[in-house]
Amino acid sequence: MKEFYRDSWVEIKLAHIDYNIKQLTKRLRKETNIYAVVKANGYGHGDIEVARTAIDAGAKRLAVALLDEAIKLREAGIHVPILVMGRVRPADVPVAVKYEITLTCYQKEWLEEVRQLELEKPVTVHLKWDTGMGRIGIRSTTELLDNLKLLKHKAFYLEGIFTHFATADEENLGHFESQLVHFQRLREVFEKNWQEKVLFHTGNSAASMRFPDKMFDFVRFGISMYGLYPSPTVKLEQPIDLKPALSLQSRLIHVKKVEPGTTISYGATYTAQTEEWIGTVPLGYADGIRRGLQGSEVLVNGKRCEIVGRICMDQFMLRLTEQAKVGDLVTVIGKQDQEEIEMDELAEKLETINYEIACMISSRVPRIYV
Ligand code: PLP
Repeated sequence: MKEFYRDSWVEIKLAHIDYNIKQLTKRLRKETNIYAVVKANGYGHGDIEVARTAIDAGAKRLAVALLDEAIKLREAGIHVPILVMGRVRPADVPVAVKYEITLTCYQKEWLEEVRQLELEKPVTVHLKWDTGMGRIGIRSTTELLDNLKLLKHKAFYLEGIFTHFATADEENLGHFESQLVHFQRLREVFEKNWQEKVLFHTGNSAASMRFPDKMFDFVRFGISMYGLYPSPTVKLEQPIDLKPALSLQSRLIHVKKVEPGTTISYGATYTAQTEEWIGTVPLGYADGIRRGLQGSEVLVNGKRCEIVGRICMDQFMLRLTEQAKVGDLVTVIGKQDQEEIEMDELAEKLETINYEIACMISSRVPRIYV
């Protein structure tokens, strides 16, 4: 591990990633395999380390959003099939071929452009169907047939078909079910017009955990591999037990007793009402501790302490519940004794989702693996 010289770090328990994958595997049908989704630096957890752990735990393949992310994994010596789920520019397809990376296609124009390239071998592609996400993918049977016609060209090897659910994590499953119907309708047309076998995959974490029997050859397991539930609805249902892999830790770098009337941080927006113990933590918005977290809590010596005053770029202040020492552990995400700050708590405070919290911890914070 690279040396670091600061008092803040992210700790990743790879054993929890292993546990989460094994929990899902137990729930899936035997014929359904797992794509470990490690885009965005493994949702902030570290893509290479998570990928290796996921493969050891039984995931057969990896999925990312960008070609750059796939190349990084290849260059780290990872050999399993890697799918790029986003759009790669036609001009970059030869690079994908060189690295044996599977691409996503869904546009006639894209296929026409790639067909013109002098590829050293066919590019492996998965055809994306937009059954109700409204993002990328073919929607109609006309588009499907147009794409299939072009996919017969020797430049392509159509290995898979996939779609993505927009509401699989919600209580109301109307839209999810309409996506399944749309998928089946396209599938019938596909099967009449394509003889070779392909792999089908539809489910993200929510769909794969909640509806394992509706999954096909693969699921794409993202957020829950990291031990986080995709939504409050799924968290309440607990279709499988999950263990969060990430904690965010720091240490007090300054402790002082202030008199009533003392103000704290930029704008002097916080004023001590009584004599108070104030601690300073070396993490700030440049590390991903957003200013909107002012007023939320972290753990020191097993107790919840409020973040007071504006969060600065590199530091923030706490109102300690009692005297503490420079060097005492501060847990921003994770457990101390009986207390726990979950990513969901920070997400709620910032009116967002745990996915965004995991991704927002910046690369300035070193990751350590235990
Ligand atoms: N599949 C696609 C196409 C995605 O974009 C994502 C993530 O956003 C996933 C799978 C994984 O989803 P989740 O993290 O909810 O499991």
